[in-house]
Amino acid sequence: MAGNNNISERLAQIRLRMALACQAAKRAPESVTLVTVSKTQSAAAVMEALAAGQRDFGENYVQEALTKQVQVGRESAIWHFIGPIQSNKTRDLAENFDWVHGLDRLKIAQRLSQQRPESLPPLNVCVQVNISGEASKSGMAPAEVAELCRQLVDLPRLRLRGLMAIPAPVAGAADSRTPFRRMRELHGALQALGLPLDTLSMGMSDDFEAAIAEGATLVRIGSAIFGARGP
Ligand SMILES: *Cc1c(COP(=O)(O)O)cnc(C)c1O
Repeated sequence: MAGNNNISERLAQIRLRMALACQAAKRAPESVTLVTVSKTQSAAAVMEALAAGQRDFGENYVQEALTKQVQVGRESAIWHFIGPIQSNKTRDLAENFDWVHGLDRLKIAQRLSQQRPESLPPLNVCVQVNISGEASKSGMAPAEVAELCRQLVDLPRLRLRGLMAIPAPVAGAADSRTPFRRMRELHGALQALGLPLDTLSMGMSDDFEAAIAEGATLVRIGSAIFGARGP
């Protein structure tokens, strides 16, 4: 797998770029969490990142993630599920993850809450917003997010943390901030309604600096750390 031998170096580079982006935005460096996206990467690659001090990992495929968790040790890391959620996989998510980022239906949220074991703290969740209005993409329309958030607050085994988005790629550097700015404004509007949101999950390898400039508190970065994924 490409680039595995310098995972710690790449992590250091990403952390530095994150710190510089925070400085440019006059934000504290601790205000942004790095989630290392380890989908399609081996358990050995995850362990190398753990050895370099990385704690948060993002996975997209349930079965792959569960296998890796057994190899790496479920308790060694904080596990974020960032892929699309299938209703027949909610129990696996409720029992094995610390965060779920792609919530966009009440039904799924209810199942996750029902299935979250009492022995674990409430499951941290983010509502996915279809901020670029793409017909083919998952996520809720911005106008519908407030209602789902209100319903989530009442689910006892979930802890609503914030919003997540995967904006469509845009052409120029200036434009790349636009969807992130709209996310920041939506997040602020929901907070003003009294919703307890503290997380804006946005920004990937190609656009995390723009996301940090617009207030991302959690960036999800894969290929810039592990190298390009296979086809
Ligand atoms: C794959 C993925 C990422 C990481 O993408 P990179 O471009 O490799 O950094 C982030 N978020 C989600 C939801 C993903 O599916």
